[in-house]
Amino acid sequence: MDEKRKISLERAEKLRSEIEDYLAFKADFIQKTEEIRDVLSKKHKEELMDYFGATEEEWNDWHWQLHHRISSVSLLSKFIKLSPNQYSTIEEISCKYRWATTPYYLSLMDYEDMNYPINMMALPSAYENDDSGELDPMSEEYTNPAPCVTRRYPNRLIINVTSSCAMFCRHCQRRRRIGESDRIESEENISAAIEYIKNTPEIRDVLITGGDPLMLPDEMLESIISRVRAIEHVEIVRIGSRVPVTMPQRITQELCDMLSKYHPLFMNLQFNHPGELTGDAVRACERLADAGIPLGNQMVFLKGINNDKYIVQLLNEGLLKARVRPYYIFHPKQVRGTKHFEITVEEGLKIMKYLRGRTSGLAIPQYIVNAPHGLGKIPLLPNYIEESDEEHVKLKTWEGCEVEIEY
Ligand code: SF4
Repeated sequence: MDEKRKISLERAEKLRSEIEDYLAFKADFIQKTEEIRDVLSKKHKEELMDYFGATEEEWNDWHWQLHHRISSVSLLSKFIKLSPNQYSTIEEISCKYRWATTPYYLSLMDYEDMNYPINMMALPSAYENDDSGELDPMSEEYTNPAPCVTRRYPNRLIINVTSSCAMFCRHCQRRRRIGESDRIESEENISAAIEYIKNTPEIRDVLITGGDPLMLPDEMLESIISRVRAIEHVEIVRIGSRVPVTMPQRITQELCDMLSKYHPLFMNLQFNHPGELTGDAVRACERLADAGIPLGNQMVFLKGINNDKYIVQLLNEGLLKARVRPYYIFHPKQVRGTKHFEITVEEGLKIMKYLRGRTSGLAIPQYIVNAPHGLGKIPLLPNYIEESDEEHVKLKTWEGCEVEIEY
């Protein structure tokens, strides 16, 4: 063997050792998740279908999923064994913050363990009684130049078209908007928002969000998208949705055919945990991607869900396989009732630092802190600069080697 090949092989062995722990974690996680997904969630699905007397066709119909959302603790307790304390906590929190889950998302839960990430994202907990934080840390009320419009940047804005979602996530950063009822914005307000965009020529990028815009019927959604698309200065339209995660049945071929008429159209999703990447969710993403829609993921760092370097790596690599590009990781905002999900910036940066070099650059999103009061996104990067002046810069590589560049 020549010397160069020998050095290369030694280097390859060292590189493998960098991810040895992750590979072991991944094998173990996949085995456990498969147990939950393939055995438990199938069993849960059968129980739920049995209880509601549903056919497979009904289960796969998003209208059925929506109509059979579980939002009462007495119904929930028919499936998940709740202690008297858990039962009364959910009942108490329900009076304060709305909750509901689709039968599909309920089928993914661990019925024995309320600390399982999927349960934690969907079911109320006593921690929500902590009233620290704000309901509107982004001061959205002060960045609202027209009905249902949020504008924080020079050339792009958001239209919030509904307060409704398939599931009311416990970590929701927009809790304030998720009211007591499912409210679709009035035609009058939506028309006023579109009029504002028409009269504001610097707006080139419009994000349609909510709540969740995919809660709207196809015709209503098309009416909004087509009017936005018809504005000459709007270059791209984006949709923000968690529906492919919480109710993938919504991603029908008809919806995709309709959306594909309005390119360039982008969609950003919110997967927070690899347990959400089920066969149904992946098929929903693939259907959207087949319709030519570039997909991005906007994960939120959440304590107990994904504040773990291996979980983030696994999620992001799984997303790429589902043709979704990890786009942002948001640092959790200080929203009232969600304090138990908060992590520190230091912890977030450690995870970002770990990812670099150990997975594809495509699987490394930008880590973002949303500045309070609507002052915009702040990207955060681990520090790779050791020292610098006009003549040189000393940097650290992902493995911690020092390198110097001279000018
Ligand atoms: S889908 Fe989005 S807006 Fe709706 S509750 Fe979940 S995080 Fe909040």
